[in-house]
Amino acid sequence: MNLEQIRIVLVEPQLAGNIGSAARAMKTMGLGQLHLVNPQQWPHPDAATMASGADDLLQVARVHDNLEGALEGAGLVVGLSARTRNLSAPAEAPPQAARRVVEEAARHPVAVLFGRERTGLTNEEVDRCHRIVHIPANPEFSSLNLAAAVQVMSYELRQAALAGEVVPQPASEWPPATADQMEQLFRHLEETLVRIEFLRQENPRVLMRRLRLLFNRARPDHNEYQILRGILAHVNMGMEGSLPGQRTQSGQGDNG
Ligand code: SAH
Repeated sequence: MNLEQIRIVLVEPQLAGNIGSAARAMKTMGLGQLHLVNPQQWPHPDAATMASGADDLLQVARVHDNLEGALEGAGLVVGLSARTRNLSAPAEAPPQAARRVVEEAARHPVAVLFGRERTGLTNEEVDRCHRIVHIPANPEFSSLNLAAAVQVMSYELRQAALAGEVVPQPASEWPPATADQMEQLFRHLEETLVRIEFLRQENPRVLMRRLRLLFNRARPDHNEYQILRGILAHVNMGMEGSLPGQRTQSGQGDNG
């Protein structure tokens, strides 16, 4: 089963007890990789108390200062949100998302993100996701406890893995661009768009979010990523006048 390859990422969990309960939820379903981004209480005895027997997951849990660290090398990022959002990656039901996650985990690291107890995931964090998953709960009261949400999703992941009916996608020659490469691309794109005055430096926000959605929907592979970076590098060289053709022209100017 590919469950071992799946990272469960808790973003800034506030309560150590929830971290322990999440570890237990994961272990009961055969998941093992717990990543914590800036946990507010860590290390903390409540975590081990609530893990009750899943302490081994806590011991090997990876702690990161920021989300980038937890997403390093990830080819697919899925975020769980208690709210439906108007500007976000395509939404998928838990079983559907679970099939995708299990299938892709055979090929590259996959991260499943859960938000803070009080405020969930920020827009910026949701913008890192290729898919958003909402557990269809009581619309009047739809916010599950963090560890309960981890339990529901872990269960779905296990069912998907057990069903084994996951249809393999045609293997691409290239792996997908990783989450960290996509961040480099977005930085490069933003800088370039400001430079060519397509974006205003003060307020690149909304357009950049839309571009993120576009690229995250397309999910460029490694080769396409390199092509995009190459295009941006050339645009910048053009702005600097340092393209080979431009150098020749200025050389001629000097002579004349
Ligand atoms: N008040 C917060 C709820 C946070 S609950 C909010 O409105 O976003 C903590 C985390 O558990 C959420 O960030 C999400 O990752 C997960 N979660 C809780 N309920 C969920 C649901 N119905 N569907 C998907 N994820 C859920």
